[in-house]
Amino acid sequence: MAGPGTGGCQGRSHGVIPPALKVPEGIFDAEKIRIHLHMFDKILIANRAEIACRIIDTCDRLGIATVAVFSDADRVARHVAIARESVRIGPAPVAGSYLRGDAIIAAAQATGAQAVHPGYGFLSENPEFAQAVIDAGFSWIGPPPAAIRAMGFKDAAKALMAAAGVPVVPGYHGADQDDDALAAEAAAIGYPVLIKAVAGGGGKGMRLVRDAASLAGSLAGARSEAMAAFGNGDVLIEKFIRNPRHIEVQVFGDSHGGAVHLFERDCSLQRRYQKVIEEAPAPGMTAEVRAAMGDAAVCAARAIGYEGAGTVEFIVDGSGPLRPDGFWFMEMNTRLQVEHPVTEMITGVDLVEWQLRVAGGECLPLAQEDISITGHAFEARIYAEDVAKGFLPAPGTLTHLRFPAGVRADTGVRAGDTITPYYDPMIAKLITHGPTRKAALATLARALAATEVAGSVTNLAFLGALARHDGFARGEVDTGLIAQNLDTLTDVPPAESREIALAAVALAGVQATPFTQWTPLRRTIWITDGQAHHAVVLTGAGGDWSVETGTATHRLTFDAGWLVDGNHPAGRVVDTPDGVTIFGAHTRHFALRDLLDTVSGTGTGAGTLTAPMPGLVKTLDVAAGDPVQEGQVLAVLEAMKMEHRMHAPFAGTVVRVPVAAGDHVSDGALIVEIRTGDG
Ligand code: ADP
Ligand code: ADP
Ligand code: MG
Repeated sequence: MAGPGTGGCQGRSHGVIPPALKVPEGIFDAEKIRIHLHMFDKILIANRAEIACRIIDTCDRLGIATVAVFSDADRVARHVAIARESVRIGPAPVAGSYLRGDAIIAAAQATGAQAVHPGYGFLSENPEFAQAVIDAGFSWIGPPPAAIRAMGFKDAAKALMAAAGVPVVPGYHGADQDDDALAAEAAAIGYPVLIKAVAGGGGKGMRLVRDAASLAGSLAGARSEAMAAFGNGDVLIEKFIRNPRHIEVQVFGDSHGGAVHLFERDCSLQRRYQKVIEEAPAPGMTAEVRAAMGDAAVCAARAIGYEGAGTVEFIVDGSGPLRPDGFWFMEMNTRLQVEHPVTEMITGVDLVEWQLRVAGGECLPLAQEDISITGHAFEARIYAEDVAKGFLPAPGTLTHLRFPAGVRADTGVRAGDTITPYYDPMIAKLITHGPTRKAALATLARALAATEVAGSVTNLAFLGALARHDGFARGEVDTGLIAQNLDTLTDVPPAESREIALAAVALAGVQATPFTQWTPLRRTIWITDGQAHHAVVLTGAGGDWSVETGTATHRLTFDAGWLVDGNHPAGRVVDTPDGVTIFGAHTRHFALRDLLDTVSGTGTGAGTLTAPMPGLVKTLDVAAGDPVQEGQVLAVLEAMKMEHRMHAPFAGTVVRVPVAAGDHVSDGALIVEIRTGDG
């Protein structure tokens, strides 16, 4: 296995090249003068949201002008607002905009950009797009198309890596897709096994199979999911590594044959094969294992002539201490990774700056021996999703958004922006750094608790529970941790009486009532926290009220803010257009309960199927008058890359279907109404 090194650029000085606006140190160094002539003046970013904003930040610092592209849903998005120029590329659905390579290249031509940065997701790992960008005369800020292609399919990538001497997960990655052949292979590998889509990504098309009896069913499920997501139903079978840990290595190559790694990230905290919290370095990592993994990753990069930023993902045996022979190649992501900031925090390297320099023809700014680790970093992905409803995407307008000071928050949204059903519902990534793992984790827990998002449900409380989890604090990171502790991690305790009292006075707007000599007012208001309704009785006037919540009576006094029973409430109260949000241990949103609405809602009965979130009616299989069986799929709603099947709750007859396939519907919209019996 080839050792790490900076290859073609070795022997020259490798200080960090100062930002373009400063006078370079080695100004008389012919190489560096050439280097600065190559730096771009203007680039186009073929992406949106958080990552587009992240790239623009570095371009701003380096004095590089930026061109944003946007769909109709993103006309006023943050990435458009902060870019120097922007170009509309199409309608909201990704197929008509962010996946339209031709429209993106036309935008680059129209604006005179010299290079295209693809970000992650979308077209970032599409070799045809990379080639088209290059053929149109632009620089591609990513690896050569051939390197993307080499890693594009998991089966071919594994074969290539095995040939290069990189340890790969034992399994079958051959061409025979016959069920019986795959069953024989699975038996030979030994259960449990994992089925993966060869074209897979984002955890799609994966199935854990515990025994031979469930193989056929899982194969069918994996194939249809893979076909729907990638247009390719081929699968491979891998040994399922027990107590698995996901540890990946950041690599970087340049066009002079140089290749280095920037250490590892541990991404073992996952839900359904998707990363939730990432960290660097990996807990329990030793110098010996780090060297072995780093060498393997650099070897993988060299084997495909890699240039730019990439990540080599390994599955690691976490049943005991890390071992140099206890990790296996899973796949390589040939782009910047979502979790790249934790590497930036511990190395001090701006990975986007390195991408720009390397794409401009420069050598890697640092040699392997000059890259070192300082402290520990965490990243948590904050999503607009409803944890209680099985992590269902929860689009909405962010009426209030505040990140704690002194912590890195990479985000693509501002207060007032909308998380739409069209794209990934990520709100932000919160990144913390500290001298030790313990310090960085404590900062993460505090930062999550201090992050305020109103207008959409989020996974903040879930992330907070993870950050405070004892096993995680001890470094017991295993990809099964979340699933094993799901109930405690997702538990949302009912609103406390003090919170209900506080919400009631805020919603009643009573502090605006002037102090008078009147006899105290007594009024009842009906409020809801989304889970439970509360009838709250307020007695008092002005800034002094006795509040009965049903379980307790509190005294609330107003003095610049409300005091509950003489104490400052344990949460900040923020008014929103449709109620109040209290940011305490849990974010709770309270609204006045609309009695009229509730009554008409109950009147429609259980035969009403309504949209659980805004989305697109993908298929609609029934019309008024049709008989239906209990459990029959009546409609499929698509929102945020997920399909939601709507089943008939009982056998009966369709009364009405006020929508059509292709319609965009809002949260709560009636899709199908049925009633028992026929005719
Ligand atoms: P990472 O390891 O960096 O999280 P993933 O491959 O899981 O990488 O996803 C990278 C990004 O691309 C994420 O933002 C994810 O939501 C997006 N993504 C992954 N797969 C798809 C897909 N099939 N369609 C759209 N976006 C995707
Ligand atoms: P994707 O392209 O969807 O990211 P990966 O091959 O990277 O697919 O796998 C995603 C996740 O699935 C990994 O991070 C890991 O948690 C789990 N996983 C993958 N392969 C194995 C395996 N052989 N054994 C145990 N877990 C695995
Ligand atoms: Mg992966």
